[in-house]
Formats: sequence, C-alpha cells, structure tokens
Amino acid sequence: MITQFRDWEQNRHTYAKAWKEKTGGKVMGYFCTYVPEEILYAANILPVRILGSHEPHDVTEAHIFGMFCPFCRDCLAQGLKGKYNYLDGVMISQSCLHIRQAYTSWIKHVPIDFSYYLPMPNNIQSTHAVKYLAGELAQFKVAVEKWIGKELTDEDIKHGIEIMNENRGLMQQLYSYKKNENPLISGEETMEVAISEQMVDKREHTPVLKELIDKIAGGAGSKNNGTRLMVLGSEDDDIAFIRMVESVGATVVTDDHCVGTRYFWNNVENNDDYLEAIARRYCERPACPSKDWIERSRIPHILSLAKDFDVKGAIVIQQKFCDPHELDIPAIIKALNAIDVKTLFLEFDVTVPLGQFKIRVEAFLEMLQEDDLF
Ligand code: SF4
Repeated sequence: MITQFRDWEQNRHTYAKAWKEKTGGKVMGYFCTYVPEEILYAANILPVRILGSHEPHDVTEAHIFGMFCPFCRDCLAQGLKGKYNYLDGVMISQSCLHIRQAYTSWIKHVPIDFSYYLPMPNNIQSTHAVKYLAGELAQFKVAVEKWIGKELTDEDIKHGIEIMNENRGLMQQLYSYKKNENPLISGEETMEVAISEQMVDKREHTPVLKELIDKIAGGAGSKNNGTRLMVLGSEDDDIAFIRMVESVGATVVTDDHCVGTRYFWNNVENNDDYLEAIARRYCERPACPSKDWIERSRIPHILSLAKDFDVKGAIVIQQKFCDPHELDIPAIIKALNAIDVKTLFLEFDVTVPLGQFKIRVEAFLEMLQEDDLF
C-alpha cells in the first residue's frame, strides 16, 4: 500500500536528480519547515527538505560545535559529503540557531548557485508578525524571480498555494483515519508518507496519496491495534525507531513533529493578498518551540492531539542539546501527565541506540498495559 512512498523516501536523491532531468527545473534544498514552499511551487522549483542520514560521520567538527543538536550536524554532514550535489539553491527560514548554523556553514563550504536566508519572525504572536512576514515574502519573491529570470504572477502564486493546500488537506484526512480503533496504517508507514511529501513533487505525491486514502476508506490496510502512542518533541525522521516501537506492541497514532503534523496541520486560507495569506498560514501553524512565546500555544495543541487520537502514552524525544525543546519539555510532560497520559523521555543522537531504547520502550508499554488492568 505504501511501496511508492517508501521508494521515494529511500531513494530521495535519485528521485530529485531524475526530476531535474525530466523537467529541466531547479531544485531548492531547504532547512526548516517555515520555508514558504508555495512560492517555490509558483516558480516551478522543487523544494527538497534537507534531512540527516542517521549514519556516524566526522566531517562537521571543524564547522559546527559538537554541542549543537545532532540533527543539524547530520544535515550539514550530508552537504559536506556531497549527498545533495544536485541542488541549485539552498535556503532557510529563521527558526533555531542550531539549524541556522548548519545553513551558514553549508553556504560557506558547499558551492551553490543560489542561497537565501528568510527572516521569519520569532515573535509570531506579535500583532505585526503577519504584515512583517508578508513583506519578507515579497522580497523573497523578487529574489526568486531574479534567479529564474521570470516574473511570478498572482496566478502563479495562487497555483503554488493550491498545490500545497491540496497535499496538506489530504495529509489531514489521512491522519483523521488514525483516530479509528484500528487505523489501518502504522506509524512507520505514516512516517514514510510524511517524509516523502517533503521531498517529492507534490503534483506526483498527491494522486498517490489520494489512492492510499481511498484504500483506507475502503477498509484496506493492516491491523494496528497496539497500545496507542503519540511521539513529539525535536525533529524526528527516524523510521527505524518508529518500527522498533511498533514491533514491541505499540501503534503510533499521532505526533507533534516538524516531519509530521506540524508540517501540514493548517492551510493557506483565501485572501486576495496571496503573500499575506501565506504569511498568516506560517505564523498560525502549530509552532516550533523556538517561536512559541509569549503564550505557550503548543501545550493546549498537544493536549488536544492526545485526546482526539485517544493516546495512552507519549514518547517525548529530544535531540541532544536541542535548547528550544529542552525548555518546553518539562511543561509538556507535566500537562500530559495531568490528563493521565504517561510519558517516556528519550534523548536522540545522530545514531539512535535502538537496543537500549527497545528495553525502555518495552518497560513503558508494560506500565501502560498494567494501568489498563485497573
Ligand atoms: S529545534 Fe531542536 S531539533 Fe530542531 S533544529 Fe533546532 S536544535 Fe535541532
């Protein structure tokens, strides 16, 4: 059922190279999901999220502090090792300092035709944030136009919005099936769908996603009635980890990750001013903790996910040294525990010790199952 998504996820570089050859278009590597892909699609540029490989490496020591998050170091390692040598451009939207350092080192040490730093505001709750970001998007649009040698019309931007909205809407629909007692799709499979949507042309991803949803709506799929868990916290695209968690009796039914629900949870709403509509969408999406202040909007959002998806427990992941999540995690754990959702905290590195984690996950599930007996 998910063969195509798995193939895209596992062969992401081959896919992007073939896309370039087939279309003659440009490919933009992006750090962080605050990058407005709507404008890239408007320009017929393929956005490809830069992710790590989870393999040990020793190439970033000279460029980035060892005490920066392993995910950032892993991403930078991919650039330094030439894994993304097909990229025409690379960009970031300001989120946390760690990933910005990976971007800064990348553009300094990896030859690239185009690079762009988009100053996404950190105080997204400010009443000025949307206007400010819309102004930054206007400047970004001009930079893209100069790069591709073509002006982007309102129709182009509208088209970019439609491409993104359609795919996001389907992902929301896919997740709605995960509220069912038997979701028919595992957490591992869902992650394959979610990762692939961040690197495959949405115009190819969307029809396959529609087919998948039709199959699930028609009752096809596997049995996934293990203990219902959510995963949340720092960046996590570690499929092997989710597979391990599900292999010992859990089903991951939802998440609060940037490679997951935070990426597609809300759409660009209708507005005659397209750039302002895009800006509003990015300011109002489920926040990264680096932007979630003065009010901590993540906590009620995570609690409502936990309730809506009827989770029994949550695995809280922190990439080692990830300050934004480290600051949020104690309050989130407290809030989840208060609604009787038990939590297991795990710290991730470039490579994840699956054996050790397996023992901890098994013990956690045992505790949840014992709770169910009383
Ligand atoms: S938020 Fe945390 S996991 Fe994400 S890039 Fe920043 S430090 Fe790394």
